[in-house]
Amino acid sequence: QSQELSQVQIDYHAALQALVEDGTRMVCTGRMHTDRICRFESLCYSTEAEEFVYFHSNSSVMLPNLGSRRFQPALLDLSSVEDHNTQYFNFVELPAAALKFMPKPVFVPDVALIANRFNPDNLMHVFHDDLLPIYYTMQQFSDLDLEARLFFMEGWSEGVHFDLYKLLSNKQPLLREQLKTLGRLLCFTKSYVGLSKITTWYQYGFVQPQGPKANILVSGNEIRQFTKFMMQKLNVSLEESSSEEYIVVFSRTINRLILNEAELILALAQEFQMKTITVSLEEHSFSDIVRLISNASMLVSMHGAQLVMSLFLPRGATVVELFPYAINPEHYTPYKTLATLPGMDLQYIAWQNTDREDTVTYPDRPWDQGGIAHLDKAEQERIIKSTEVPRHLCCRNPEWLFRAYQDTKVNIPSLIHVIRQTVKSKPGPKKQKWSGSLYPGKVRDARCQASVQGTSEAKLAVSWQIPWNLKYLKVREVKYEVWIQEQGENTYMPYILSHQNHTFSENIKPFTIYLVWIRCIFNKNLLGPFADVLLCST
Ligand code: UDP
Repeated sequence: QSQELSQVQIDYHAALQALVEDGTRMVCTGRMHTDRICRFESLCYSTEAEEFVYFHSNSSVMLPNLGSRRFQPALLDLSSVEDHNTQYFNFVELPAAALKFMPKPVFVPDVALIANRFNPDNLMHVFHDDLLPIYYTMQQFSDLDLEARLFFMEGWSEGVHFDLYKLLSNKQPLLREQLKTLGRLLCFTKSYVGLSKITTWYQYGFVQPQGPKANILVSGNEIRQFTKFMMQKLNVSLEESSSEEYIVVFSRTINRLILNEAELILALAQEFQMKTITVSLEEHSFSDIVRLISNASMLVSMHGAQLVMSLFLPRGATVVELFPYAINPEHYTPYKTLATLPGMDLQYIAWQNTDREDTVTYPDRPWDQGGIAHLDKAEQERIIKSTEVPRHLCCRNPEWLFRAYQDTKVNIPSLIHVIRQTVKSKPGPKKQKWSGSLYPGKVRDARCQASVQGTSEAKLAVSWQIPWNLKYLKVREVKYEVWIQEQGENTYMPYILSHQNHTFSENIKPFTIYLVWIRCIFNKNLLGPFADVLLCST
Protein backbone atom coordinates (compact mmCIF):
# COMPACT_ATOMS: atom_id res chain seq x y z
CA GLN A 1 0.00 0.00 0.00
CA SER A 2 2.73 2.38 -0.97
CA GLN A 3 1.54 5.96 -0.88
CA GLU A 4 2.20 8.43 -3.63
CA LEU A 5 3.76 11.23 -1.63
CA SER A 6 3.11 14.09 -3.94
CA GLN A 7 2.74 15.29 -7.46
CA VAL A 8 5.22 17.99 -6.57
CA GLN A 9 8.47 17.21 -8.31
CA ILE A 10 11.55 17.85 -6.32
CA ASP A 11 15.07 17.95 -7.59
CA TYR A 12 16.49 14.98 -5.75
CA HIS A 13 20.12 15.94 -6.09
CA ALA A 14 19.49 19.49 -4.95
CA ALA A 15 17.50 18.22 -1.97
CA LEU A 16 20.20 15.75 -0.98
CA GLN A 17 22.91 18.37 -1.34
CA ALA A 18 20.91 20.80 0.80
CA LEU A 19 20.49 18.16 3.48
CA VAL A 20 24.18 17.28 3.52
CA GLU A 21 25.30 20.90 3.52
CA ASP A 22 22.66 22.57 5.66
CA GLY A 23 21.66 19.75 7.96
CA THR A 24 18.49 19.98 10.05
CA ARG A 25 17.05 23.27 11.22
CA MET A 26 14.66 23.54 14.11
CA VAL A 27 13.01 26.56 15.70
CA CYS A 28 10.35 26.00 18.35
CA THR A 29 7.70 27.98 20.22
CA GLY A 30 6.96 27.32 23.87
CA ARG A 31 9.08 27.37 27.02
CA MET A 32 8.34 23.86 28.29
CA HIS A 33 7.97 20.48 26.64
CA THR A 34 4.24 20.70 27.42
CA ASP A 35 3.64 23.85 25.39
CA ARG A 36 6.17 23.40 22.61
CA ILE A 37 5.61 23.07 18.87
CA CYS A 38 8.68 22.86 16.62
CA ARG A 39 9.17 23.77 13.00
CA PHE A 40 11.82 21.82 11.16
CA GLU A 41 13.55 21.90 7.85
CA SER A 42 15.07 18.57 6.89
CA LEU A 43 13.97 16.54 9.86
CA CYS A 44 14.50 12.89 9.01
CA TYR A 45 12.99 9.63 10.25
CA SER A 46 14.60 6.22 10.18
CA THR A 47 11.84 3.68 9.61
CA GLU A 48 14.20 0.92 10.74
CA ALA A 49 15.24 2.51 14.00
CA GLU A 50 11.78 4.12 14.37
CA GLU A 51 13.55 7.29 15.46
CA PHE A 52 13.59 10.85 14.21
CA VAL A 53 17.03 12.03 13.17
CA TYR A 54 18.55 15.49 13.43
CA PHE A 55 21.58 16.06 11.16
CA HIS A 56 24.24 18.48 12.32
CA SER A 57 26.12 20.55 9.80
CA ASN A 58 27.61 24.03 9.55
CA SER A 59 24.20 25.57 8.94
CA SER A 60 22.03 23.55 11.28
CA VAL A 61 19.98 25.32 13.93
CA MET A 62 18.49 23.92 17.13
CA LEU A 63 16.37 26.33 19.15
CA PRO A 64 15.84 25.76 22.00
CA ASN A 65 19.28 24.24 22.46
CA LEU A 66 18.56 22.38 25.66
CA GLY A 67 21.58 20.11 25.88
CA SER A 68 20.68 17.08 27.94
CA ARG A 69 17.57 18.83 29.28
CA ARG A 70 16.10 17.68 25.96
CA PHE A 71 15.67 14.31 27.68
CA GLN A 72 14.17 15.69 30.88
CA PRO A 73 11.75 14.35 30.04
CA ALA A 74 11.44 15.18 26.32
CA LEU A 75 11.57 17.91 23.73
CA LEU A 76 7.79 18.04 23.44
CA ASP A 77 4.45 16.24 23.73
CA LEU A 78 3.45 14.64 20.42
CA SER A 79 -0.20 14.44 21.43
CA SER A 80 -2.41 17.13 22.93
CA VAL A 81 -2.61 15.21 26.21
CA GLU A 82 -0.31 16.99 28.60
CA ASP A 83 2.94 15.36 29.70
CA HIS A 84 1.92 11.77 29.02
CA ASN A 85 5.05 9.63 29.07
CA THR A 86 3.95 7.49 26.12
CA GLN A 87 3.55 10.58 23.94
CA TYR A 88 6.97 12.21 24.10
CA PHE A 89 8.90 13.36 21.05
CA ASN A 90 12.64 13.44 20.67
CA PHE A 91 15.25 12.89 17.99
CA VAL A 92 18.63 11.26 17.69
CA GLU A 93 21.54 13.40 16.51
CA LEU A 94 24.04 12.56 13.79
CA PRO A 95 26.62 14.50 11.81
CA ALA A 96 25.44 15.17 8.26
CA ALA A 97 28.56 13.35 7.08
CA ALA A 98 26.97 10.12 8.34
CA LEU A 99 24.51 10.37 5.45
CA LYS A 100 27.24 8.89 3.21
CA PHE A 101 26.86 5.61 5.05
CA MET A 102 23.09 5.64 5.42
CA PRO A 103 20.23 4.55 3.18
CA LYS A 104 19.45 7.05 0.45
CA PRO A 105 16.94 9.51 1.88
CA VAL A 106 13.44 9.71 0.47
CA PHE A 107 12.21 13.29 0.60
CA VAL A 108 8.71 14.22 1.71
CA PRO A 109 7.86 17.31 -0.32
CA ASP A 110 4.57 18.17 1.44
CA VAL A 111 4.55 20.43 4.47
CA ALA A 112 4.04 17.90 7.24
CA LEU A 113 2.28 18.04 10.59
CA ILE A 114 3.70 15.27 12.73
CA ALA A 115 1.73 14.27 15.82
CA ASN A 116 0.21 11.43 17.83
CA ARG A 117 -3.45 10.63 18.02
CA PHE A 118 -4.26 9.76 21.62
CA ASN A 119 -7.11 7.25 21.39
CA PRO A 120 -8.50 7.17 17.85
CA ASP A 121 -11.19 4.58 18.65
CA ASN A 122 -13.01 6.79 21.13
CA LEU A 123 -15.01 9.64 19.69
CA MET A 124 -14.47 12.00 22.63
CA HIS A 125 -10.73 11.52 22.34
CA VAL A 126 -10.89 11.88 18.56
CA PHE A 127 -12.48 15.33 18.77
CA HIS A 128 -10.96 16.66 21.95
CA ASP A 129 -7.41 15.33 21.68
CA ASP A 130 -6.91 15.18 17.92
CA LEU A 131 -9.30 16.93 15.54
CA LEU A 132 -9.68 20.25 17.35
CA PRO A 133 -5.97 20.47 18.24
CA ILE A 134 -4.91 19.56 14.70
CA TYR A 135 -7.34 22.07 13.22
CA TYR A 136 -6.07 24.89 15.42
CA THR A 137 -2.41 23.93 15.08
CA MET A 138 -2.96 24.26 11.34
CA GLN A 139 -4.57 27.66 11.91
CA GLN A 140 -1.51 28.74 13.86
CA PHE A 141 1.02 28.14 11.08
CA SER A 142 0.08 29.50 7.68
CA ASP A 143 1.99 26.90 5.65
CA LEU A 144 -0.05 24.15 7.33
CA ASP A 145 -2.84 24.68 4.82
CA LEU A 146 -5.16 22.19 3.15
CA GLU A 147 -2.21 20.93 1.10
CA ALA A 148 -0.30 19.92 4.21
CA ARG A 149 0.00 16.25 5.09
CA LEU A 150 -0.70 14.74 8.49
CA PHE A 151 1.62 12.06 9.87
CA PHE A 152 0.28 10.06 12.80
CA MET A 153 3.14 8.52 14.74
CA GLU A 154 1.33 6.85 17.65
CA GLY A 155 1.43 3.51 15.86
CA TRP A 156 -2.29 2.71 15.76
CA SER A 157 -4.04 1.57 12.62
CA GLU A 158 -6.54 3.89 10.96
CA GLY A 159 -9.28 3.23 13.49
CA VAL A 160 -13.03 3.57 13.05
CA HIS A 161 -13.04 7.36 12.73
CA PHE A 162 -10.27 7.78 10.16
CA ASP A 163 -12.63 9.48 7.74
CA LEU A 164 -12.85 12.39 10.17
CA TYR A 165 -9.09 12.87 10.20
CA LYS A 166 -9.12 12.87 6.41
CA LEU A 167 -11.32 15.98 6.41
CA LEU A 168 -8.56 18.15 7.85
CA SER A 169 -6.41 18.26 4.73
CA ASN A 170 -6.66 17.35 1.07
CA LYS A 171 -3.91 14.77 1.36
CA GLN A 172 -4.29 11.30 2.77
CA PRO A 173 -2.89 11.19 6.32
CA LEU A 174 -0.09 8.68 6.76
CA LEU A 175 0.39 6.29 9.67
CA ARG A 176 3.67 5.22 11.22
CA GLU A 177 3.40 1.72 9.74
CA GLN A 178 3.02 3.09 6.23
CA LEU A 179 6.24 5.06 6.42
CA LYS A 180 8.20 1.82 6.07
CA THR A 181 6.77 1.37 2.60
CA LEU A 182 8.12 4.76 1.58
CA GLY A 183 11.76 4.15 2.38
CA ARG A 184 14.32 3.47 5.07
CA LEU A 185 15.25 7.09 5.69
CA LEU A 186 12.52 9.69 5.20
CA CYS A 187 13.38 13.37 5.23
CA PHE A 188 10.64 15.91 5.75
CA THR A 189 11.45 19.01 3.74
CA LYS A 190 9.35 21.20 6.01
CA SER A 191 7.51 19.95 9.06
CA TYR A 192 5.81 20.94 12.28
CA VAL A 193 5.96 18.61 15.24
CA GLY A 194 3.50 18.67 18.13
CA LEU A 195 -0.05 19.88 18.70
CA SER A 196 -1.55 22.99 20.20
CA LYS A 197 -3.32 22.32 23.50
CA ILE A 198 -5.09 25.64 23.46
CA THR A 199 -8.52 24.16 22.66
CA THR A 200 -8.55 21.28 25.14
CA TRP A 201 -10.90 21.58 28.11
CA TYR A 202 -10.51 18.31 30.00
CA GLN A 203 -7.84 16.31 31.76
CA TYR A 204 -8.46 12.58 32.00
CA GLY A 205 -7.11 11.91 35.44
CA PHE A 206 -3.59 10.56 34.91
CA VAL A 207 -2.10 12.47 37.84
CA GLN A 208 -5.17 13.74 39.66
CA PRO A 209 -8.80 12.64 39.35
CA GLN A 210 -10.32 13.72 36.05
CA GLY A 211 -11.91 17.12 35.66
CA PRO A 212 -11.94 20.35 33.65
CA LYS A 213 -8.48 21.71 32.83
CA ALA A 214 -7.30 24.35 35.27
CA ASN A 215 -6.93 27.08 32.69
CA ILE A 216 -9.43 26.74 29.86
CA LEU A 217 -8.54 28.96 26.91
CA VAL A 218 -11.23 28.10 24.37
CA SER A 219 -14.72 29.50 23.94
CA GLY A 220 -17.79 28.36 22.05
CA ASN A 221 -16.83 30.65 19.20
CA GLU A 222 -13.72 28.67 18.30
CA ILE A 223 -15.53 25.38 18.81
CA ARG A 224 -18.21 26.52 16.38
CA GLN A 225 -15.68 27.75 13.80
CA PHE A 226 -14.29 24.23 13.85
CA THR A 227 -17.67 22.51 13.61
CA LYS A 228 -18.59 24.84 10.74
CA PHE A 229 -15.47 23.66 8.90
CA MET A 230 -16.25 20.01 9.63
CA MET A 231 -19.84 20.39 8.47
CA GLN A 232 -18.72 21.96 5.20
CA LYS A 233 -16.31 19.10 4.64
CA LEU A 234 -19.05 16.57 5.50
CA ASN A 235 -21.43 18.31 3.10
CA VAL A 236 -23.91 18.95 5.88
CA SER A 237 -25.64 22.28 5.45
CA LEU A 238 -27.37 24.05 8.29
CA GLU A 239 -31.05 23.70 7.56
CA GLU A 240 -33.47 26.57 7.90
CA SER A 241 -34.87 26.75 11.39
CA SER A 242 -38.40 26.78 10.00
CA SER A 243 -38.34 23.00 9.96
CA GLU A 244 -39.88 21.00 12.78
CA GLU A 245 -38.30 20.97 16.24
CA TYR A 246 -37.20 17.63 17.65
CA ILE A 247 -35.31 15.80 20.37
CA VAL A 248 -32.44 13.38 19.66
CA VAL A 249 -31.77 10.40 21.92
CA PHE A 250 -28.22 9.22 21.20
CA SER A 251 -28.18 5.59 22.19
CA ARG A 252 -25.44 3.06 22.75
CA THR A 253 -26.14 -0.42 21.44
CA ILE A 254 -23.29 -2.48 22.89
CA ASN A 255 -23.07 -1.48 26.53
CA ARG A 256 -24.19 1.14 29.06
CA LEU A 257 -27.67 0.73 27.62
CA ILE A 258 -30.89 2.56 28.35
CA LEU A 259 -33.15 -0.44 29.00
CA ASN A 260 -36.45 1.37 28.53
CA GLU A 261 -35.53 3.41 25.52
CA ALA A 262 -38.93 3.16 23.83
CA GLU A 263 -40.65 4.35 26.98
CA LEU A 264 -38.13 7.19 27.31
CA ILE A 265 -38.71 8.36 23.76
CA LEU A 266 -42.47 8.34 24.18
CA ALA A 267 -42.23 10.24 27.43
CA LEU A 268 -39.95 12.93 26.00
CA ALA A 269 -42.15 13.35 22.95
CA GLN A 270 -45.23 13.68 25.11
CA GLU A 271 -43.73 15.99 27.70
CA PHE A 272 -42.17 18.44 25.25
CA GLN A 273 -44.65 17.93 22.40
CA MET A 274 -41.81 17.25 20.01
CA LYS A 275 -40.84 14.54 17.65
CA THR A 276 -38.17 12.38 19.32
CA ILE A 277 -35.72 10.28 17.34
CA THR A 278 -32.87 7.89 18.20
CA VAL A 279 -29.47 7.74 16.62
CA SER A 280 -26.46 5.53 17.30
CA LEU A 281 -22.94 5.29 15.93
CA GLU A 282 -23.72 1.75 14.88
CA GLU A 283 -26.84 2.53 12.87
CA HIS A 284 -26.23 5.97 11.40
CA SER A 285 -23.57 7.49 9.22
CA PHE A 286 -21.54 10.19 10.79
CA SER A 287 -22.93 12.83 8.42
CA ASP A 288 -26.48 11.83 9.27
CA ILE A 289 -25.78 12.14 12.97
CA VAL A 290 -24.23 15.57 12.48
CA ARG A 291 -27.16 16.67 10.32
CA LEU A 292 -29.67 15.54 12.94
CA ILE A 293 -27.81 16.93 15.94
CA SER A 294 -27.07 20.27 14.33
CA ASN A 295 -30.79 21.05 14.21
CA ALA A 296 -31.92 19.40 17.41
CA SER A 297 -33.52 21.16 20.35
CA MET A 298 -32.33 18.62 22.88
CA LEU A 299 -29.78 15.81 22.98
CA VAL A 300 -30.35 13.04 25.52
CA SER A 301 -27.71 10.35 26.06
CA MET A 302 -25.97 8.10 28.52
CA HIS A 303 -22.63 9.40 29.73
CA GLY A 304 -20.10 8.37 27.11
CA ALA A 305 -17.96 9.45 24.20
CA GLN A 306 -20.90 9.86 21.84
CA LEU A 307 -21.88 12.94 23.87
CA VAL A 308 -18.97 14.86 22.38
CA MET A 309 -21.33 15.28 19.44
CA SER A 310 -22.95 18.10 21.40
CA LEU A 311 -20.19 20.10 19.68
CA PHE A 312 -22.62 20.18 16.76
CA LEU A 313 -25.74 21.28 18.65
CA PRO A 314 -27.20 24.68 17.77
CA ARG A 315 -26.96 27.49 20.29
CA GLY A 316 -29.71 27.35 22.89
CA ALA A 317 -30.12 23.58 22.73
CA THR A 318 -30.19 21.39 25.82
CA VAL A 319 -27.83 18.50 26.65
CA VAL A 320 -29.18 15.84 29.01
CA GLU A 321 -26.51 13.43 30.26
CA LEU A 322 -27.68 10.25 32.01
CA PHE A 323 -25.41 8.63 34.62
CA PRO A 324 -25.65 5.03 35.77
CA TYR A 325 -26.06 4.07 39.41
CA ALA A 326 -23.26 5.07 41.83
CA ILE A 327 -21.59 7.39 39.34
CA ASN A 328 -21.53 10.94 40.61
CA PRO A 329 -22.12 13.30 37.68
CA GLU A 330 -19.93 15.94 39.33
CA HIS A 331 -16.91 13.66 39.04
CA TYR A 332 -17.12 13.03 35.29
CA THR A 333 -17.64 16.30 33.49
CA PRO A 334 -16.10 16.27 30.00
CA TYR A 335 -19.47 16.96 28.38
CA LYS A 336 -20.70 19.34 31.05
CA THR A 337 -17.50 21.35 30.66
CA LEU A 338 -17.97 21.42 26.91
CA ALA A 339 -21.62 22.46 27.10
CA THR A 340 -20.87 25.22 29.59
CA LEU A 341 -17.83 26.73 27.86
CA PRO A 342 -18.37 30.48 27.58
CA GLY A 343 -20.26 31.17 24.39
CA MET A 344 -21.28 27.54 23.76
CA ASP A 345 -24.77 28.67 24.80
CA LEU A 346 -25.99 25.17 25.63
CA GLN A 347 -28.07 24.19 28.62
CA TYR A 348 -26.61 21.27 30.47
CA ILE A 349 -28.59 18.87 32.67
CA ALA A 350 -27.27 15.78 34.45
CA TRP A 351 -29.51 12.98 35.67
CA GLN A 352 -28.28 10.07 37.77
CA ASN A 353 -29.92 6.74 38.48
CA THR A 354 -30.13 6.58 42.27
CA ASP A 355 -32.19 3.42 42.42
CA ARG A 356 -30.35 0.11 42.74
CA GLU A 357 -33.43 -1.68 41.37
CA ASP A 358 -33.03 0.12 38.08
CA THR A 359 -29.46 -0.91 37.37
CA VAL A 360 -28.13 -4.05 35.71
CA THR A 361 -24.53 -4.94 36.48
CA TYR A 362 -22.14 -7.28 34.65
CA PRO A 363 -19.70 -8.65 37.22
CA ASP A 364 -18.70 -11.58 34.98
CA ARG A 365 -17.61 -9.65 31.93
CA PRO A 366 -13.90 -9.13 31.12
CA TRP A 367 -12.26 -6.48 33.32
CA ASP A 368 -12.16 -3.89 30.51
CA GLN A 369 -15.94 -4.15 30.15
CA GLY A 370 -16.46 -3.66 33.84
CA GLY A 371 -16.19 -7.24 35.09
CA ILE A 372 -15.00 -7.72 38.66
CA ALA A 373 -14.88 -11.53 38.89
CA HIS A 374 -11.06 -11.39 38.80
CA LEU A 375 -10.95 -9.42 42.08
CA ASP A 376 -10.85 -11.10 45.47
CA LYS A 377 -14.21 -11.81 47.10
CA ALA A 378 -13.99 -9.10 49.74
CA GLU A 379 -13.20 -6.45 47.15
CA GLN A 380 -16.05 -7.65 44.93
CA GLU A 381 -18.43 -7.39 47.86
CA ARG A 382 -17.23 -3.95 48.80
CA ILE A 383 -17.76 -2.74 45.25
CA ILE A 384 -21.24 -4.25 45.02
CA LYS A 385 -22.29 -2.67 48.32
CA SER A 386 -20.85 0.75 47.55
CA THR A 387 -23.30 3.50 46.63
CA GLU A 388 -20.76 5.79 44.98
CA VAL A 389 -17.52 5.22 43.11
CA PRO A 390 -14.88 7.20 45.01
CA ARG A 391 -12.76 9.59 42.98
CA HIS A 392 -10.00 7.72 41.23
CA LEU A 393 -7.23 8.04 38.69
CA CYS A 394 -7.50 6.99 35.06
CA CYS A 395 -8.00 4.41 33.55
CA ARG A 396 -8.34 0.94 34.95
CA ASN A 397 -10.16 1.43 38.23
CA PRO A 398 -12.35 -1.72 38.41
CA GLU A 399 -15.04 -0.11 40.54
CA TRP A 400 -15.39 2.71 38.04
CA LEU A 401 -15.48 0.34 35.06
CA PHE A 402 -18.01 -1.90 36.84
CA ARG A 403 -20.37 1.00 37.42
CA ALA A 404 -19.69 2.72 34.08
CA TYR A 405 -20.76 -0.35 32.13
CA GLN A 406 -24.07 -0.89 33.91
CA ASP A 407 -27.30 -0.75 31.95
CA THR A 408 -29.98 1.55 33.29
CA LYS A 409 -33.74 1.58 33.39
CA VAL A 410 -34.35 5.31 33.37
CA ASN A 411 -36.87 6.47 35.96
CA ILE A 412 -38.97 8.63 33.66
CA PRO A 413 -40.74 10.88 36.23
CA SER A 414 -37.43 11.58 37.95
CA LEU A 415 -35.73 12.44 34.65
CA ILE A 416 -38.57 14.68 33.46
CA HIS A 417 -38.54 16.41 36.83
CA VAL A 418 -34.82 17.18 36.55
CA ILE A 419 -35.18 18.44 32.98
CA ARG A 420 -38.17 20.58 33.93
CA GLN A 421 -36.19 22.33 36.64
CA THR A 422 -34.11 23.88 33.85
CA VAL A 423 -36.26 23.73 30.72
CA LYS A 424 -39.41 25.60 31.66
CA SER A 425 -41.27 25.77 28.38
CA LYS A 426 -40.08 24.33 25.11
CA PRO A 427 -36.43 23.47 24.77
CA GLY A 428 -34.66 24.46 21.65
CA PRO A 429 -32.48 26.64 19.57
CA LYS A 430 -33.19 30.23 20.42
CA LYS A 431 -32.93 32.77 17.69
CA GLN A 432 -30.85 34.87 19.98
CA LYS A 433 -28.97 37.93 18.94
CA TRP A 434 -25.22 37.78 19.05
CA SER A 435 -24.40 38.55 22.63
CA GLY A 436 -20.64 38.47 22.30
CA SER A 437 -19.17 40.00 25.38
CA LEU A 438 -16.71 42.75 24.63
CA TYR A 439 -14.58 44.27 27.32
CA PRO A 440 -14.06 47.97 27.97
CA GLY A 441 -10.70 49.61 27.25
CA LYS A 442 -8.89 51.72 29.84
CA VAL A 443 -10.52 54.94 31.01
CA ARG A 444 -8.67 57.93 29.57
CA ASP A 445 -7.29 61.23 30.84
CA ALA A 446 -7.71 60.36 34.49
CA ARG A 447 -6.92 63.31 36.78
CA CYS A 448 -7.21 64.17 40.40
CA GLN A 449 -7.27 67.38 42.33
CA ALA A 450 -6.81 67.54 46.07
CA SER A 451 -8.00 70.20 48.45
CA VAL A 452 -7.28 70.48 52.16
CA GLN A 453 -9.81 71.83 54.66
CA GLY A 454 -8.09 72.57 57.90
CA THR A 455 -5.83 70.08 59.63
CA SER A 456 -7.99 66.95 59.56
CA GLU A 457 -10.17 67.12 56.46
CA ALA A 458 -9.33 66.81 52.79
CA LYS A 459 -11.03 66.07 49.50
CA LEU A 460 -9.99 64.29 46.36
CA ALA A 461 -11.74 65.20 43.11
CA VAL A 462 -11.15 62.49 40.52
CA SER A 463 -12.30 62.59 36.89
CA TRP A 464 -11.73 60.55 33.74
CA GLN A 465 -12.99 60.04 30.19
CA ILE A 466 -14.85 57.03 28.84
CA PRO A 467 -12.85 54.14 27.33
CA TRP A 468 -12.12 54.75 23.68
CA ASN A 469 -14.08 51.74 22.40
CA LEU A 470 -17.31 52.69 24.22
CA LYS A 471 -18.35 55.18 21.56
CA TYR A 472 -18.59 52.34 19.03
CA LEU A 473 -20.58 50.00 21.26
CA LYS A 474 -24.10 49.62 22.51
CA VAL A 475 -23.67 48.75 26.16
CA ARG A 476 -26.59 48.23 28.50
CA GLU A 477 -24.83 49.46 31.61
CA VAL A 478 -21.54 51.32 32.05
CA LYS A 479 -20.05 51.64 35.53
CA TYR A 480 -16.68 52.65 36.89
CA GLU A 481 -14.78 51.12 39.73
CA VAL A 482 -12.41 53.35 41.67
CA TRP A 483 -9.98 52.10 44.27
CA ILE A 484 -8.35 54.60 46.61
CA GLN A 485 -5.28 53.32 48.35
CA GLU A 486 -3.14 55.24 50.80
CA GLN A 487 0.45 54.94 49.68
CA GLY A 488 2.23 52.22 51.60
CA GLU A 489 -0.98 50.54 52.78
CA ASN A 490 -2.12 47.10 51.64
CA THR A 491 -5.82 47.88 51.70
CA TYR A 492 -7.90 50.16 49.55
CA MET A 493 -11.40 51.64 49.52
CA PRO A 494 -13.45 50.48 46.53
CA TYR A 495 -16.27 52.49 44.95
CA ILE A 496 -18.65 51.70 42.11
CA LEU A 497 -19.71 54.89 40.29
CA SER A 498 -21.94 55.75 37.37
CA HIS A 499 -20.40 59.07 36.42
CA GLN A 500 -17.00 60.10 35.14
CA ASN A 501 -16.08 62.19 38.15
CA HIS A 502 -16.45 62.04 41.87
CA THR A 503 -15.21 63.93 44.88
CA PHE A 504 -14.09 61.68 47.70
CA SER A 505 -14.08 63.09 51.21
CA GLU A 506 -14.68 60.08 53.44
CA ASN A 507 -11.47 58.88 55.07
CA ILE A 508 -9.35 61.28 53.04
CA LYS A 509 -6.60 62.75 55.20
CA PRO A 510 -4.60 65.89 54.53
CA PHE A 511 -0.91 65.71 53.61
CA THR A 512 -1.14 62.14 52.41
CA ILE A 513 -0.35 60.50 49.09
CA TYR A 514 -3.13 58.39 47.57
CA LEU A 515 -2.97 55.93 44.70
CA VAL A 516 -6.14 55.97 42.59
CA TRP A 517 -7.03 52.99 40.37
CA ILE A 518 -9.88 53.30 37.89
CA ARG A 519 -11.46 50.78 35.58
CA CYS A 520 -14.63 50.57 33.52
CA ILE A 521 -17.21 47.77 33.87
CA PHE A 522 -19.74 46.84 31.17
CA ASN A 523 -22.96 45.07 32.12
CA LYS A 524 -21.93 44.27 35.68
CA ASN A 525 -19.36 41.57 34.95
CA LEU A 526 -17.20 42.65 32.03
CA LEU A 527 -14.28 44.17 33.91
CA GLY A 528 -11.86 46.30 31.89
CA PRO A 529 -8.20 46.94 32.65
CA PHE A 530 -7.14 49.53 35.22
CA ALA A 531 -5.79 52.77 33.80
CA ASP A 532 -2.28 53.79 34.86
CA VAL A 533 -2.38 54.53 38.54
CA LEU A 534 -2.92 58.16 39.56
CA LEU A 535 -0.78 59.64 42.32
CA CYS A 536 -2.67 62.28 44.30
CA SER A 537 -1.21 64.27 47.21
CA THR A 538 -3.56 66.08 49.52
N1 UDP B 1 -19.54 3.08 21.60
C1 UDP B 1 -20.68 3.01 20.84
N2 UDP B 1 -21.71 2.21 21.23
C2 UDP B 1 -21.64 1.47 22.35
C3 UDP B 1 -20.49 1.53 23.14
C4 UDP B 1 -19.46 2.34 22.72
O1 UDP B 1 -20.77 3.66 19.81
O2 UDP B 1 -22.61 0.76 22.65
C5 UDP B 1 -18.44 3.93 21.17
C6 UDP B 1 -18.28 5.15 22.08
O3 UDP B 1 -19.04 6.24 21.61
C7 UDP B 1 -16.81 5.44 21.96
C8 UDP B 1 -16.20 4.07 21.78
O4 UDP B 1 -17.23 3.24 21.31
O5 UDP B 1 -16.52 6.22 20.82
C9 UDP B 1 -15.57 3.53 23.05
O6 UDP B 1 -16.56 3.43 24.06
P1 UDP B 1 -16.16 3.30 25.59
O7 UDP B 1 -17.32 2.79 26.34
O8 UDP B 1 -14.87 2.55 25.69
O9 UDP B 1 -15.79 4.78 26.03
P2 UDP B 1 -16.69 5.95 26.66
O10 UDP B 1 -17.89 6.09 25.79
O11 UDP B 1 -17.02 5.54 28.05
O12 UDP B 1 -15.79 7.15 26.58
